[in-house]
Amino acid sequence: MPELPPELMPIDPVELRRLFGGECDFIAGAPVAAAVPPPQGPEFGFVGRSNVGKSSLVNALTGRKTLARVSHTPGRTQQLNFFNLGGRLVLVDMPGYGFAKVSKAQSNSWNKLARDYLRGRAALRCVFILVDSRHGLKDTDRDVMKLLDTAAVSYRIVLTKVDEAKKAELATTQQAVTDELKKHPAAFPDIILTSAHEGTGMDDLRSSIYRLI
Ligand code: GDP
Repeated sequence: MPELPPELMPIDPVELRRLFGGECDFIAGAPVAAAVPPPQGPEFGFVGRSNVGKSSLVNALTGRKTLARVSHTPGRTQQLNFFNLGGRLVLVDMPGYGFAKVSKAQSNSWNKLARDYLRGRAALRCVFILVDSRHGLKDTDRDVMKLLDTAAVSYRIVLTKVDEAKKAELATTQQAVTDELKKHPAAFPDIILTSAHEGTGMDDLRSSIYRLI
């Protein structure tokens, strides 16, 4: 039998559970570039519009209920939050973008910190751009995609809240996103469908991280 390419080789679910269900420690929150901690391992960034379900996803990924709560604490929402997973990799929960209620100046300063990090971090292995499965890509997502294309940082689109999308709606979003990704050199061509509430797609996301460490 021909051997499968590495990206299609199944990963032992016990291994995945061991890693993602194990220790996960908050390393630091960085409100400014100078506070970004030195790398402790390969880093995986999570970005998306506010309310896309990022905290829920980061919590579901690690099987915890409160991990990303820190990111929602008022005053901490603008920082990059670093979590060490089992001493093997680092999850980076990044500020949400596109939130209408913040001032322009505040929004620009978020962007600067996040953008500088995304552009200049050698340890950054992959960025997961979370997109609501009912809404599809927005221009704020496209800005991040462009930045990552230019910086040659790999990224992958993760559709969230698939439990809420109607079947046809989900198929339309999936097709539109997949088509659009063809024009983006740094994007993984396939997307991951998830529901943090129902646990859908969590092992796909875990495997996709595992393959890159
Ligand atoms: P964040 O602002 O991106 O961190 O988003 P949150 O994780 O705080 O989620 C925003 C809202 O979406 C909350 O009301 C969540 O309960 C809801 N939400 C998050 N994930 C899911 C999901 O998988 N399915 C559904 N139906 N709702 C979700």
